[in-house]
Amino acid sequence: MSVTHAPQTTDVLTRQDPELAEILLGELHRQSSTLQLIAAENFCSPAVLAALGSALANKYAEGYPGARHHGGCEIVDVAERLAVDRAKSLFGAEHANVQSHSGSSAVLAAYAALLRPGDTVLALGLPYGGHLTHGSPANFSGRWFDFVPYGVDAETGLIDHDQVRTLARTHRPKAIVCGSIAYPRHIDYAFFREVADEVGAYLIADAAHPMGLVAGGAAPSPVPYADVVCATTHKVLRGPRGGMILCGGELAERVDRAVFPFTQGGAQMHTIAAKAVAFGEAATPAFAAYAHQVVANARILAAALADEGLVVTTGGTDTHLVTADPAPLGVDGRTARGRLAAAGMVLDCCALPHADTRGLRLGTAAVTTQGMAEKEMERIAALLAGVVRGEVESVRAREEVRDLVGGFPPYPA
Ligand SMILES: *Cc1c(COP(=O)(O)O)cnc(C)c1O
Repeated sequence: MSVTHAPQTTDVLTRQDPELAEILLGELHRQSSTLQLIAAENFCSPAVLAALGSALANKYAEGYPGARHHGGCEIVDVAERLAVDRAKSLFGAEHANVQSHSGSSAVLAAYAALLRPGDTVLALGLPYGGHLTHGSPANFSGRWFDFVPYGVDAETGLIDHDQVRTLARTHRPKAIVCGSIAYPRHIDYAFFREVADEVGAYLIADAAHPMGLVAGGAAPSPVPYADVVCATTHKVLRGPRGGMILCGGELAERVDRAVFPFTQGGAQMHTIAAKAVAFGEAATPAFAAYAHQVVANARILAAALADEGLVVTTGGTDTHLVTADPAPLGVDGRTARGRLAAAGMVLDCCALPHADTRGLRLGTAAVTTQGMAEKEMERIAALLAGVVRGEVESVRAREEVRDLVGGFPPYPA
């Protein structure tokens, strides 16, 4: 078994540093022998891993192609131009910046491009699925900006459009953020554009989660509506861990300067090369089929979980995300997650709108990459409910998980 599928590094590592090689092998084994239901995770391809493990990791490249602060950038310039061109073409954007080290860095840069400290920003509140960068007091966003949270409707779990409009009119924010870590439905970008225009605000779409679905044509694109779109490249999009920013030509220079030199230093050229690989993969018909299967799987999973008695937020999903309250099975989300972890089913807790207890957040991006489909989703839901209820003991559950994932190796030999 190889450590990463970046063959040029594997054997060397095993020989030179068996202690660390053992850790990498252990993690690969964990990922392949347990069930990966964390909504933000995926299995990127061996080609993406190869780019990450390449000699581009050695190169310093502050600045942008053709305008670097370091010598010897002529080759990595080609890599970055390729990544930018592929991102622009994949998402139909006028401008792409592919240097953000992460989704959070992309959001930081978007704020830096458009806002000044103390500006008012409207965003989905954290208890309803807003990200830390959407105004958490523990994050720079909550410290440097005046965030006004909007929420979801208590009955439907859907974003409360009336409240968004009212808050926008009352607070006249400089920017409105739409995007979430847990919202399972499509976001109505046209609605947010209309409200932003009415109050003279910038619209920032933080599409970290659904951007892979957008690439595959399985979710609506924020690009025609938002002034700036932030995203990660490692969630459904299935690329390396990192961020990107898309915008119109008129904001290109502000966004680029907000990334470097304002919020970051040298670009990570190995990651940018891996982003180029992932954008290339995401432009294929095979990826479009994948994105649609991700949603189909999530719908089946949501329905099957509801049949088992869990309360599925918004009654279902349009995306890869399912959030659910396990309370009717007799436990809260935290206890449920512990039981599931012991059974080898890896997922997250999440805030539940209008409830004090935590819920469960699952996603189908990783299991769909493995090749699982409807039948497996039903099997997962039944097993999950049995484990949460305490009916299936963890040893037996672990065996069943191993049996299930054994048929779908993420990195077949
Ligand atoms: C995942 C996510 C982020 C942050 O991405 P990191 O790469 O973890 O920094 C930001 N916003 C939203 C909505 C996300 O889902």
